[in-house]
Parts: sequence; structure tokens; C-alpha cells
Amino acid sequence: MGILVMKFGGTSVANVERIQHVAEKVAQAVKEGNRCVVVVSAMGKSTDELVALANEITSAPSPREMDMLLATGEQVTISLLTMALQSKGFAACSLTGWQAGIQTDAAHGKSLVKHVDTSTLREHLERDEVVVVAGFQGITDEGEITTLGRGGSDTTAVVLAAALGADRCEIYTDVTGVYTTDPRVVSKAQKLSEVSYEEMLELARLGAGVLHPRSVECALNHGIPLVVRSSFVDEPGTWVKEANQMELTLNVRGLAHDMDVACIRVSKLPNEKGTLAMIFQALAKENVNVDMIVQNEQNEQFFDLVFSVEEADSKQAVEVLEKLADELKYQSIRCETGLAKVSAVGVGMMKQPGVAAQMFQTLSEEGIQIKLVSTSEIKISCVVARELAYQAVQRLHTVFGLDVKEEQAVTS
Ligand code: ASP
Ligand code: MG
Repeated sequence: MGILVMKFGGTSVANVERIQHVAEKVAQAVKEGNRCVVVVSAMGKSTDELVALANEITSAPSPREMDMLLATGEQVTISLLTMALQSKGFAACSLTGWQAGIQTDAAHGKSLVKHVDTSTLREHLERDEVVVVAGFQGITDEGEITTLGRGGSDTTAVVLAAALGADRCEIYTDVTGVYTTDPRVVSKAQKLSEVSYEEMLELARLGAGVLHPRSVECALNHGIPLVVRSSFVDEPGTWVKEANQMELTLNVRGLAHDMDVACIRVSKLPNEKGTLAMIFQALAKENVNVDMIVQNEQNEQFFDLVFSVEEADSKQAVEVLEKLADELKYQSIRCETGLAKVSAVGVGMMKQPGVAAQMFQTLSEEGIQIKLVSTSEIKISCVVARELAYQAVQRLHTVFGLDVKEEQAVTS
């Protein structure tokens, strides 16, 4: 009998009625002959509410206590869902992350799963029980409770699917699948029937909130087919799978935007050995996460450097550079906030020249200045003024042929 991992996010388990509905869906999967492992998030917005409670007490809660607090949210859901299943006559058992054997490193608030000891899980499955596991949480070798970062229940689900050799992992959410872009920004966005792991990974990292990036990474590494679908309406979702199993008809599969970008420009840095290493080591030491980096040689003696960070980190980045002013001997630093990153993603662009040109041309026609560019084989990202980001996404969506066709729009 095949193992099926199903994951239900916060809105899918927001109240008792929704939990009953989830129990129905799980019951159906059991009746169809699956052995089910069900991963759940905390109910509704309860993780946000727990964060708010902590912030009422202190603006700098200790990471250990924060994990202790946030891990409680998922525990509420596992017990209630298990009760719902049991009262429908199904054998079921809830397990916390640690009971399910999810071992992580000790980086509180952003832990990585190192290993899953599946023995307890398997015992329950052998007894034909549905196992309901708390998402988002794990335990260190020292027995400390950890969490995997916001949205981390997706990763719990895929990690368990990989460890148990599940046939597939179904991610149930409040949208009907993965869209070409955020439908709140582009009304003509359409649901993708499939997307490759690589594309999904880029989209998730570049700001598409539908899946936790690490869950996609894990699915890619273990070849776990993922499907993202709605727990509210019964329609086929989006399959995330190997690129070579897909038709490569579109150069650009989707657009993502990240509204939280700031750029730091360092002008006229003397061309000396080790300068870049010194700058980025100092930033890393202060936990400033740098995204895009552009180095531009002015002449043999000097170069300019531009890099992007999250806006919240920009002040600290400037402070780090100011502290190094005497050693670095740059002419000036400038910090530009209020920016956004707009990205086009598609494995098809590997074989198709001209996608970048089309993107730059479109933005230029719209009068949108590009502040910074970065590319990989399957993506192009441009940093633009935040207030123009939606306009950029809307126009690019049309230009790249992603708009839903009129007749589809009428029937859906
Ligand atoms: N409850 C956690 C959060 O809200 C984890 C998750 O839902 O995936 O971030
Ligand atoms: Mg989520």
C-alpha cells in the first residue's frame, strides 16, 4: 500500500468546521487505499498571534523561547484533527515534530532538518493508523525544540515524504495552485497545470509565497512529485515535477516580485586585493543577508560596488561599511530604499535567446528605470522603484504571453 503525505496550511484548518472538512478529505484518501501521513500548520493566523504576544513582552525575545512558543500552535491542530478523524471511526494518532523523529540543527527560528527517524511513524502506519504530524517543528540532538522558519510546514511534509518513500506529497492551501504570478496583482494571472522543480524553487525564493523554498529543494533532491491544490474547492492543482517530463512551450513560466529591497552603492573603492572579501565577511558577521551583487571597474585603480539587501538590513549594512571606512578608503556610500525586485522565471529561456532583451525593452517602454540586474540560466531579476513594481509585473505578464485567454477567463 502506498504512502501519501498530505499537508494542510493555516487557512485550511482555521476553525472546527474547516478541521472537520480536512478530516473528510483524509478519510476519503484512506478509503481509496492510501496510508496517510497528514502534516498540519497552526490554525488560521495563530502563529502571528503568538508572535504578537511575545512582542508585547519584549522586542527581542530569545530565539529558544520563541521556538518554544511558536511550536505550540501546530500542537493544537494535530490533536483536534486526530479527534475529528477518530470520531469518524478512523484509527489515528497525533505526533509532535520530535515524536515523529524530525531532528534538526540548533539554528532556532530557521532550523534545517538533518535526519528523520521514521521508526515511530512506521509503527503507527503498520497499525493502519492515520498519523497526524505537527508541521514546522523539530528537535536538536540536545533535545531543544526548534522551528523551521515561517511557512516551514511545507518542508516538514516533503521531508517526511522523502524519508518514508511516499508516492507523492499533496500540499493543500487556500489557492487552487501555483499561478503565473500573484492574481492579486495581475487579474489575468492563470493557474499553471505544471511547473518544474527548478522553476518553482526560483519562484519560491523570489517571493512567490505559495511554497516554502526549502520544501521545493527537498522535493527536487529526492524526486518527490508535489501537487499544490485547494482544500476548499475540488479541482486539479499544479504539479511540481521534473522539467524533462514537461512540455517546454513557454520561455517564461511565471513572474515573481519581492517588495522588500534596498540597494547600497559604494563608490570609488581602491582596486586592492581582498577588498570584496573584507566587505562581505563583515556583512556576514553581522548577519546581513546580501542578495544581488554588482562590481563595476571604473579604471585600473578604482571600482564601484552595488549590492541589494532586505530593507530592514540596510541600516546595518551601512553601519558595517562606515565602520570600515578607514580601511576601505571608498569615496562615498549611498543607500537607496523603497525598491522591489521583479523576476521572470522559466526553464525555456535556457534555449531561447532574447528574453532579457524583451524584459529590458518592456520596462524601458514603461519608463521604469532598472537599478540592478541579476540572471541565472532560468531567471532574470530587475530591481526597480517599489511603486512601479506592480506596473512592471502587469506589463511583463502580457508581453511574455502569460495572460489568461479571454474565453478561458469567461468559463473559469
Ligand atoms: N505556522 C507556521 C507559520 O505560520 C508554519 C506554517 O504554517 O507553515 O509560519
Ligand atoms: Mg504556506
